Amino acid sequence: MSARTEDAARANRIDTVDAVVVGAGFAGLYAVYKLRSLGLTVRGIETAAGVGGTWYWNRYPGARCDVESVDYSYSFSPELEQEWNWSEKYATQPEILAYINHVADRFDLRDHFLFETRVTSAELDEESLRWEVRTDRGDVLTAQYCIFATGALSTANMPNIPGRESFSGDTHHTGHWPHEGVDFTGKKVGVIGTGSSGIQSIPLIAEQADHLYVFQRSANYSVPAGNMSWDDEMRRAIKAGYAERRRLSRESGGGSPYNAHPKSALEVSEEERRAAYEERWKLGGVLFAKTFPDQTRTDAANATAREFAEQKIRRLVDDPAIAEKLIPNDHPIGTKRIVTDTHYFETYNRPNVTLVDLKETPIESITRSGITTTDTEYTLDTLVFATGFDAMTGALDRMRIVGRAGVSLAECWSEGPKTYLGVGVPGFPNMFVVTGPGSPSVLANMVLGAEQHIDWIAACIEHLWENDYDAIEATVPATDRWVEHCRELASTTLFPLANSWYMGANIPGKPRVFMPYIGGFGAYGKILAEVADEGFRGFDFC
Ligand code: FAD
Repeated sequence: MSARTEDAARANRIDTVDAVVVGAGFAGLYAVYKLRSLGLTVRGIETAAGVGGTWYWNRYPGARCDVESVDYSYSFSPELEQEWNWSEKYATQPEILAYINHVADRFDLRDHFLFETRVTSAELDEESLRWEVRTDRGDVLTAQYCIFATGALSTANMPNIPGRESFSGDTHHTGHWPHEGVDFTGKKVGVIGTGSSGIQSIPLIAEQADHLYVFQRSANYSVPAGNMSWDDEMRRAIKAGYAERRRLSRESGGGSPYNAHPKSALEVSEEERRAAYEERWKLGGVLFAKTFPDQTRTDAANATAREFAEQKIRRLVDDPAIAEKLIPNDHPIGTKRIVTDTHYFETYNRPNVTLVDLKETPIESITRSGITTTDTEYTLDTLVFATGFDAMTGALDRMRIVGRAGVSLAECWSEGPKTYLGVGVPGFPNMFVVTGPGSPSVLANMVLGAEQHIDWIAACIEHLWENDYDAIEATVPATDRWVEHCRELASTTLFPLANSWYMGANIPGKPRVFMPYIGGFGAYGKILAEVADEGFRGFDFC
């Protein structure tokens, strides 16, 4: 029986467990695996009907990872590393989902989860220091530890465009794509949004649609993915060097085994600089944004990368006027997540693709038959929202999480998220956030990021046992210092200049705070290890 059928029929659960884990993506699955291996009783809860998280929900055409799959995969099991065969450098969503399902079965994780179940609240009982977790299915679970593996990019953002509900055709959000797929053949399609999901899906939708209108509010930088198939020989070579690959990844800035050029972009000759950019461009992928260490630190260094990328766009797009519209003019390159694509810019050379620049002609409304801009009306059969996510805090904000003295997480974070090390929050003992704000999170390989956090949380629980404590809680001074440290680090970069989802800028009313820790994955790992070695400095125990 599938998880869906089984879960649809189940009675509600009133349970007491050691740990509740919310989310069945990469992070939640590993959390269940790890905590179970410590001998804890664990209950996982997941809104979706299956495992996979991001890769369960984002089934749009062209969905792929942009960190190489051999790196964007679990490292906790060398056997798993050796037995799984990635077919391409950047795996597609179906392949990643198949991998996650394989992991769930291989390590027997599925049965720990309640699927099709949304956590609505988690409240601390201050006397017992236990969490009471409630769901939309009437479950009530009491647990000592509450682990939110709810994802940094798991809450789809639907823009509030007037008339949105009135559209009579099909509407899809890339982050909630139908499992049976969407046939665009013969259809007039509108895609709103040109971030990662838009840029990945647009070339494939264009191949099918009768006509595709791309509604672009802000242009984005994108680098060719440089995807390729792996043959057996390549796979063998990667597998033989896996341990070293992982070591380099853990020490790197972004969680994959690459580092920036040793010199500043401005220290090298024009020739050397071009060669370095060209090499990264050919290699493909997000690493282009990290060609030189100062690329996102100074305007002058950034300008060199920008100029290079813009020349590429001008060369790829036949119509110079369209090329200019596709070149971002509102943020330094790399300060919004750089996108990786397969023939994105070339798609605008197709006769059945029209770019609608919303800076020139903003959308006035969505109507029954399409989209009306200040200029004209576009008649559409299908509307695709590639409008991203309420990033990093969205999933947490949508639950009622209440800590000491009845104070909610939403209240604590009203001016922006505040964590100690991205994992702990004062007033919320034994509550852990995985890859949350204040950690490298979305700036690094998130599979290794999740493992790093969960291993650390497990060490923390062992520390509690060894010392006969019931609870661990981040202190206010340590949290304040960490928040300030994160802010300071970000302020030495160009990142706060962009209206990005890193800054919460895509969500009306969200506080403008640069949310991730930008000091690097390796540096952050060292801090986590030091804190643990010093008896979890900055935390209180009771
Ligand atoms: P998720 O995979 O987001 O899983 C969280 C789960 O929690 C979801 O299934 C959600 O349904 C569930 N949940 C949330 N709230 C509740 C609730 N209240 N009750 C019950 N369940 C809940 N990162 C990279 O490092 N490299 C990449 O190449 C990369 N590519 C990406 C491509 C796309 C299209 C997207 C959207 C993201 C990509 N990411 C990438 C980021 C990606 O989100 C992470 O890599 C990773 O999958 C996160 O795993 P997770 O388990 O932390 O969260």
